[in-house]
Amino acid sequence: MDKIMQSRMDRGFYKYQEEYEQKALEVLRSGWYILGKEDEAFEKEFAEYVGTKYAVGLASGLDALWLAFRVLGIGKGDEVIVQGNTYIASVMGITINDATPVFVEPDQYYQIDADKIEEKITDKTKAILVVHLYGQAANMTKIQEICKKHNLKLVEDCAQSHGACHNGKMTGSFGDIGCFSFYPSKNMGAFGDAGAITTDDPELARLMKIYRNYGSEKRYYNMVVGANSRLDELQAGLLRVKLKHMAEITQEREKLAKRYTEGIDNPLVIKPTIAPNSTSVWHQYVLRVPGKRDDLKQYLEDNDIATIIHYPIPPHRSEAYGYLNMAEGSLPITGHYANEVISLPMYNGMTGEEQDKVIDCINAFGKIKQ
Ligand SMILES: *Cc1c(COP(=O)(O)O)cnc(C)c1O
Repeated sequence: MDKIMQSRMDRGFYKYQEEYEQKALEVLRSGWYILGKEDEAFEKEFAEYVGTKYAVGLASGLDALWLAFRVLGIGKGDEVIVQGNTYIASVMGITINDATPVFVEPDQYYQIDADKIEEKITDKTKAILVVHLYGQAANMTKIQEICKKHNLKLVEDCAQSHGACHNGKMTGSFGDIGCFSFYPSKNMGAFGDAGAITTDDPELARLMKIYRNYGSEKRYYNMVVGANSRLDELQAGLLRVKLKHMAEITQEREKLAKRYTEGIDNPLVIKPTIAPNSTSVWHQYVLRVPGKRDDLKQYLEDNDIATIIHYPIPPHRSEAYGYLNMAEGSLPITGHYANEVISLPMYNGMTGEEQDKVIDCINAFGKIKQ
């Protein structure tokens, strides 16, 4: 068997190859390549999928995040609450606007611990950024309550959670703005960089369309200093094809996760669990291996199985955020998780044979040589 990759995109492409190729040709032959019919149709269909009134296509997930705070008017002197254990892009979305991230520890589901948010709220707090990490919806009931009580904006980072729900409602439809990435390795990956925001507010949708195109609504009349963050027609068209299959794509990942959970049996590892009112779309299947994570990673590597750590250095400890002066141990749970997590191979098109090999190897870990 070939080496098992942690993530791969070719199998997902080949499954619907004809549809993708047909759409790509159609766009290439149309003579229109940025912000056109495909983008318009995609925005309509994606908003419908998420359950919001509007979606706006953008160039990346990071753009969705920083533009979200920009259109909400959050900037210098403002604080935004975010979980410690996230991808650094979540935090950059805040700091690109010169706002200050205030970190909250994660709960047992790796989501922001809603019970620890209120103690971090000050008179400078303007918003909460919820990251539905690894594909699981966070406790939005509680978080929405907190936002209402303290009059805070709510932004969702849904880069890993396309289709995940809390109480039957999809992530990206709870906050003022939902931010999506369609980076190729995401559950709803494009074939290049792409992103979007979702919102129910017509004014925020309008502002986002202005910001993504140099701050201009009418050609050569620039209202604000914006960005070049337009979605191209090729990605929009291909995303429309993928969107049609999202239910199936998600179901397949749920099946893979279930198989891991049923098959993995080793007292050295802690398997992921899902909160009562939430679902996961299993962007990652993450184990925790206290004290032996790096040994398991090496053991799997020796058996031709690739894994990834999401993420080895939490944002508050990265060089980029050295200016925040947060000592090691200042977010102990976040710190522990960074040393214990490991993401198993997980991709659409993973075969039973491949998955069995991963499961058998994990179950054998620590039992062969003591
Ligand atoms: C991928 C990702 C982003 C950034 O998306 P890009 O499209 O790569 O800019 C932001 N937040 C999270 C949680 C992500 O996983």
